[in-house]
Amino acid sequence: MAHSLPPLPYAENALEPVISAETISYHYGKHHKSYVDTLNRLIAGSEYENLSLEDIIRKASGGIFNNAAQVYNHTFYWNGLTPNGKGRPDGALLSAIEKKWGTFEDFQKAFTASCTGNFGSGWTWLVKKTDGTLDIINTSNAATPVTGDSIPLLTFDVWEHAYYIDYRNARAKYVESLWQIVNWDEVARRLG
Ligand code: MN
Repeated sequence: MAHSLPPLPYAENALEPVISAETISYHYGKHHKSYVDTLNRLIAGSEYENLSLEDIIRKASGGIFNNAAQVYNHTFYWNGLTPNGKGRPDGALLSAIEKKWGTFEDFQKAFTASCTGNFGSGWTWLVKKTDGTLDIINTSNAATPVTGDSIPLLTFDVWEHAYYIDYRNARAKYVESLWQIVNWDEVARRLG
């Protein structure tokens, strides 16, 4: 089964000025697409050929894992962003955040600190643990919560390719700007 590059849920320039159309053209159009194309090439004729993307992530290692996980992580990242960001969550999601971090602003500070402290290339995630509480975790390179028990709710891509065109090396500025375009309705849907 060939995997495909999922369509973006908005136009390539829709996230400007937070994320430029040029960044999307590289990050989605080249990096994300390349992970899809490489995955399809690597699984052809292998035991992974007919598995779902998530099953490949759970069973594979090496290059097949890396490319499958990067396909998943990027789709999850794009779907967690929106040009119509409302700035903050509400309802049960806000309650769960306040239960863990006290206030939404304190959660943002903790998440931003995890993003800026995530050494090298990786991803910072808001997850729901098996006990129902929320947490923030960092993963390196392609690593993803899909291989564990926690349910991912939101991710910020902190690979340099996510921000270098728009923010150069200033990861903290990219992260601070990204809050404007978080799709809190989608995060709430993922919380269930
Ligand atoms: Mn990326």
